[in-house]
Amino acid sequence: MLQIEHISKQYKTGDFVQKALDDVSVNLRDNEFVAILGPSGSGKTTLLNIIGGLDHYDRGDLIINGTSTKRYKDRDWDSYRNHSVGFVFQSYNLIPHQSILSNVELALTISGVPRAQRRERARAALEEVGLGQHVDKKPNQLSGGQMQRVAIARALVNNPKILLADEPTGALDSETSIQIMDLLKEVAKDRLVVMVTHNPDLAHRYATRIVELHDGVILSDSDPLPTDQVPLRRVRHRTFGRASMSLLTSISLSFNNLRSKKARTILTSFAGSIGIIGIALILSVSTGVNAYIDRIQQETMTSYPISIDQQSFDLNKIAGASQDSPGSKRDTTHRKAIYPDDTSIKGASSLTGSITKNNLTDFKKYLDDPKSEIHQYVGSVGIQYSYASKFSVFTHDPKGTLVNMDGVNIEKTDEASAASQMAGLGSGGDISSLQSMQISRLTGKSDQTKAPRAFTEIMPGRTDRTPISKVITDNYKMVKGHWPQSKDQVVLVLTPNNKLPLTTVYELGLLPAGDYKDMMNQLNSGQEVKTDTHPIDYDKAMKQELSMIPASDLYVKQDNGHYRFVGNDADQIDRLSANAVKLSIVGIIKPVDDAKTTPLDAGLGYTRMLTDYLIDHAQSSPVVQDQKAQPDRNVLNGLAFAPSDDAAKAADAKAYVDSLGVSQKANIARTVMTANQAQGQQGPGNQAAQLGNMTEQQVAEGFDRYMAQASQEVLVGIYNQYVSTGSYDDNMSDFGLMNRDAPTSIRIYADSFEDKNSIGDSITHYNDKASKDNKIVYTDYVGLMMNSVTTIINVITYVLIAFVGVSLVVSSIMIGIITYISVLERTKEIGILRAMGASKHNVSQVFNAETGIIGLTSGLLGIAVTLLLLIPGNAMMHHFMGTDEVNAFLPVRGAVALVILSVVLTLIGGLIPSRTAAKQDPATALRTE
Ligand code: ADP
Ligand code: MG
Repeated sequence: MLQIEHISKQYKTGDFVQKALDDVSVNLRDNEFVAILGPSGSGKTTLLNIIGGLDHYDRGDLIINGTSTKRYKDRDWDSYRNHSVGFVFQSYNLIPHQSILSNVELALTISGVPRAQRRERARAALEEVGLGQHVDKKPNQLSGGQMQRVAIARALVNNPKILLADEPTGALDSETSIQIMDLLKEVAKDRLVVMVTHNPDLAHRYATRIVELHDGVILSDSDPLPTDQVPLRRVRHRTFGRASMSLLTSISLSFNNLRSKKARTILTSFAGSIGIIGIALILSVSTGVNAYIDRIQQETMTSYPISIDQQSFDLNKIAGASQDSPGSKRDTTHRKAIYPDDTSIKGASSLTGSITKNNLTDFKKYLDDPKSEIHQYVGSVGIQYSYASKFSVFTHDPKGTLVNMDGVNIEKTDEASAASQMAGLGSGGDISSLQSMQISRLTGKSDQTKAPRAFTEIMPGRTDRTPISKVITDNYKMVKGHWPQSKDQVVLVLTPNNKLPLTTVYELGLLPAGDYKDMMNQLNSGQEVKTDTHPIDYDKAMKQELSMIPASDLYVKQDNGHYRFVGNDADQIDRLSANAVKLSIVGIIKPVDDAKTTPLDAGLGYTRMLTDYLIDHAQSSPVVQDQKAQPDRNVLNGLAFAPSDDAAKAADAKAYVDSLGVSQKANIARTVMTANQAQGQQGPGNQAAQLGNMTEQQVAEGFDRYMAQASQEVLVGIYNQYVSTGSYDDNMSDFGLMNRDAPTSIRIYADSFEDKNSIGDSITHYNDKASKDNKIVYTDYVGLMMNSVTTIINVITYVLIAFVGVSLVVSSIMIGIITYISVLERTKEIGILRAMGASKHNVSQVFNAETGIIGLTSGLLGIAVTLLLLIPGNAMMHHFMGTDEVNAFLPVRGAVALVILSVVLTLIGGLIPSRTAAKQDPATALRTE
């Protein structure tokens, strides 16, 4: 039983207060057909809405089966509407975009009835109102009477105890009205039906009770139910069980709604996707550009690592010495005299002062410490240490002649240098270089202070298991064979068009050394030179056997206990070659077509493994061991490294000349004479011509005499110029002694400019802590070349980020507006849902689900459109830039993030509108047309 007790309701519109109901009391039986009659505006709809829980009374009480509703919460009202009340409206209020069946199902959907059951019950309800065949039609495909029957079926599907009908026949013709009334009469057999009408005929014909309303007051009641006849139960609070709708139901509801409005949904999604497309495009372009910049940076950094050499010029210091630079602050206005400028003098001194010796041993310790700050900035190539490997390589030419890979064939060495010596004498050429050449021969030392120039060490990988760096394997391709896997394997490096310098071809012994000699002679005499440039088979080159002799092995102990350099002695070399490490060419490589960096010159590449072998070998060689045993005497000639006074020097000079053989003595005599002549002094043999006519024996004897009578001053002069035995360190270096802890240079590779700058900072931090002598001076070529590039790149990045930010804001505003419009448009639907018992939460959930789906569609659409746009976009970019280096592409993670962003933004944009929707007063919403 329903008890309406002293209910009042008034509407306020501005200052105007409209009393819709004024202290209305009426009791309704559980089973009767009540017709409420009254003119328009008398408060009939208001009363009905209050009975149905759609609208709330201001004063009084609605007692449902003895339960007061005074303390009802929204939830209770929702549940009451859903389970106990069915509504039928004058304007049917069917949801136009859903089928008849779905419309009827709605009440069940809201209460969370499983789908199959929902279907069955909805069909049954439609069957009952005689619409069994029309279940799949849309409301607009039905007549008014049929639509009203659908509305009745919908109201009844939940089998409510109360059916409320607001002018159900108001829009129907009289014949159809009668059919509907018949139906309602049928329905009223086992429940309470309250029908509002202004048609007294129909009311009197069908209703069991007629209540007349006027200006919010009950005028008459044909069959009142006195309250005292009803045993008044204690008023208690009670719910009807929850109206619940799962998220999935919301989504499917929204999805159906969107599906029924395909074109609209696609347009909405497209509008929403414009922002996403904008962002995705900017993201793609910036990803492409960034990838390009990164690649350029990495390539640049691979070609120009930060380098630290044992000895280095501080290029920055030199650069900083420029005077009167625009930035230098000078007071020019008050200068009224001449100011001597000392910068050029100081510049010269700063040049010498800028030569620094770096303590790489300590720095390597720092680099070896994995905890050092620098490691986080080191790029993929890593840190490379170089050592001054010293070795010679010998091979035989097709005629069996021994060839030194130094560039000259052994036999030729003496002749060639003799020839050039004569040439030097004749033309008065570069005497000092001639001298140094002579000295090296006289003192038994060699010029050979490094590996043959055709040889380059291949940059090793970061771990011991990768002997070849990725930089090399990425930039070179194997033409034949494979990469070296051990110390005795080398590769032949060709230029991109398979060329190899002719000199290297001769050095490798692939062509007869004699031909090279002839060729060079022809060149020297200014003749046309015929060169042999026939292609050479890969196999032929790879068969060439190379003997590698470490520098230390080229020093052989003599009978007199001194070591002699035998690098020019073919017999000795043949002997040494027998036990030498045989290098085999196991592969031929050349730069790939788009090589980014080509650190290997055409020639031969050997591995770090060979360097390692050389380090160990030199360490244990006899010459190094012996020199270590007597650190103050030169093992090459037995002389002291540093004689204490002039007398000792003179003695050493005499002893040294005495120890020489005849031809060596003659050589030094000629040199001393030449030098004296050049300086306008008297030499031992007076005239060059005279000297030229003498035999070696005569020259040597003459020199002996000259030495015997020479003053101490002359002897010291000879000592200083020709005998100086260098130092212990020089010797050790000549013997090829290397220390793993003391590399000759360190190259630190970064992947980006920022990392490179951070590496610079790390070194500065290292220097801050290091003692004065241990401070490191490094060369940063890239930094010197292009300091501003990083700034430009940063600016571009920030501009792109700003663009993305703007697109984002625009996109979210757009989505919010779209959702808001959608809410406005669906106000009526919200009212219907609420009338069915959907809670506020349900309503907002439906809207959120819908915006979510739109967001998802927008996102996916945006990504799809972007991917499509990128195809012509890239083609255009490549066309205009003239390069396909820059490739805009959408990273997968970015795409996923954008879809999520789109969903989130749409949800946020739709949040306010959906809350507005949920908050809408259902009664008001239903009044909306
Ligand atoms: P009926 O259904 O009998 O035609 P209503 O119950 O719809 O009458 O309205 C009763 C009175 O309350 C009318 O004067 C109407 O103008 C007023 N009214 C109804 N709803 C509102 C509202 N939401 N805001 C202001 N006035 C309203
Ligand atoms: Mg009305």
